[in-house]
Amino acid sequence: MDTFGIVGGGIAGLAVARVLGRNGYQVTVFEPDMPATGFSADDAFTDWVRPHIAQLRQPHSARSIIRKLLVERDPELYRAVLDGGMIEWPFRLPDFGDEEYDPELVGFLGRRPTFEKALRAVVERTPGVTFVTERVTGLNADPANPRRLAGVTTKSGAVHDFDAVVECTGRRSKLMDWLQGLGLRRPTEIEQDCGIIYYSRYFRFREGVRIDHGNYPSGPSANLSTLQYTMNRTDNGTFSLMLGVAPWEPLFNHLKDERVFMDVARALPGTMSWLAPELSEPIWRVEWFTGLVNRHRTFTQDGRPILENLFILGDSRFHTNPIFGWGMGLALRQSAMLVDALSAGGGIAAAVARFEAEADIYGRKHFEASAGEDRARMKYWKGELAEPQTPGTPEYFVTQVQPAAFRDPGIYRAVTRRAHLLDDPLEILGNGEVNRRAAAIPRVDHTKMSRVEIMGIVEASARRHLDETRLKLAVRA
Ligand SMILES: Cc1cc2nc3c(=O)[nH]c(=O)nc-3n(C[C@H](O)[C@H](O)[C@H](O)COP(=O)(O)OP(=O)(O)OC[C@H]3O[C@@H](n4cnc5c(N)ncnc54)[C@H](O)[C@@H]3O)c2cc1C
Repeated sequence: MDTFGIVGGGIAGLAVARVLGRNGYQVTVFEPDMPATGFSADDAFTDWVRPHIAQLRQPHSARSIIRKLLVERDPELYRAVLDGGMIEWPFRLPDFGDEEYDPELVGFLGRRPTFEKALRAVVERTPGVTFVTERVTGLNADPANPRRLAGVTTKSGAVHDFDAVVECTGRRSKLMDWLQGLGLRRPTEIEQDCGIIYYSRYFRFREGVRIDHGNYPSGPSANLSTLQYTMNRTDNGTFSLMLGVAPWEPLFNHLKDERVFMDVARALPGTMSWLAPELSEPIWRVEWFTGLVNRHRTFTQDGRPILENLFILGDSRFHTNPIFGWGMGLALRQSAMLVDALSAGGGIAAAVARFEAEADIYGRKHFEASAGEDRARMKYWKGELAEPQTPGTPEYFVTQVQPAAFRDPGIYRAVTRRAHLLDDPLEILGNGEVNRRAAAIPRVDHTKMSRVEIMGIVEASARRHLDETRLKLAVRA
């Protein structure tokens, strides 16, 4: 049976290891970080040392596509994820009742360490899969064929040979340099700024609190001018709050101060139903993530894959604005594509060609959808979309269709299916029925709070806490 070397044991690497192992292949996963074996979900969240994943403690939505793939293809993993603490959650809007409810719109809620720990435990017991706790430092060319790899080299200098290599090292991947190092042409890359900085924090509900979900799919959320926020219930009585803010507003830097973060968070519409001090308490510091970009890489050159036994999956292939919560679902979808490409027969080279053709289109569509929506959101936040927009454009989608989703169950269903990776991400822009229904709803400014109001809250909080700090220092002196 063919042997596979998987570089990177994050979500994409683990998902591929699982599908390959279940299909009888011999798989070695190279992952430098130690697993969370033996930790409880709470300990994994606080104590798991994962230096290669900067986003480990950022909120991670597990979209409905993940549950759908597990239910349809891997019931054992589906059960393990639930046993590990993830909550199965129907993404319905309470006001709509059961009207047009879609049974596929069911995802998981939980923290990323909880999900990843459950996934890793199942992969570890999958026949044919072994782990090597080491970093890969480069890809090795096959001396007999420049279009093939022989395997990989690790940090200790050990050389490992495989029939195929699967690259899953995430958004900081060194793959482009490795390929160039082999004397290959650098793959083309497109990139667009996400126009957002992420701030987030995790909390735990106090004992006995009845959780009020309000009229939200999973927790209070809104897109305000210059700021978007989402609260999500997560596993073991915890919840997350994510604030995505405009990078061009330097005052938002004060959100790194947890006192300012909490003042701003508590001033947002609907948040106090979870954040009031008598209801919950923080369990972690404020985390932030800057420099976010949408990125897509093309690994086909002159009509054929760059190498005939290299698969590239997950964030190192393409990634989108994390605010959409797509990365893990996209990774699992690509792992299914890979195994389907192998199952179609013809050997590894044929499978790489098939996979490349499908994954490239898939990646490009999600890149375009994410980048288009980001461009529109940036204009919206800058006040440039006051006039009615043209149906079929991302600008119309952001200003007319998305707000209308809270008023019309049909639009809600279409928008939420796309958000959960169940439908083509670009198709909704030209969906005549959705656009007609959205046009019938008077345009409401769903931003609820103006830019001036939001920046005023940030500034007042920052000043107050700066004065407090100055006072403390003066007293100490
Ligand atoms: C701020 C933020 C928030 C996000 N929120 C969400 C969300 O809500 N929902 C969602 O689905 N996705 C979210 N994502 C995206 C998600 O984290 C990834 O898309 C998803 O985990 C798939 O990534 P991956 O496996 O390709 O990479 P990663 O999860 O980054 O894993 C890469 C792995 O490769 C390993 N590695 C790196 N270099 C080497 C090497 N040289 N040798 C061997 N191993 C190596 C690393 O240790 C790591 O384990 C978010 C991302 C960010 C940045």
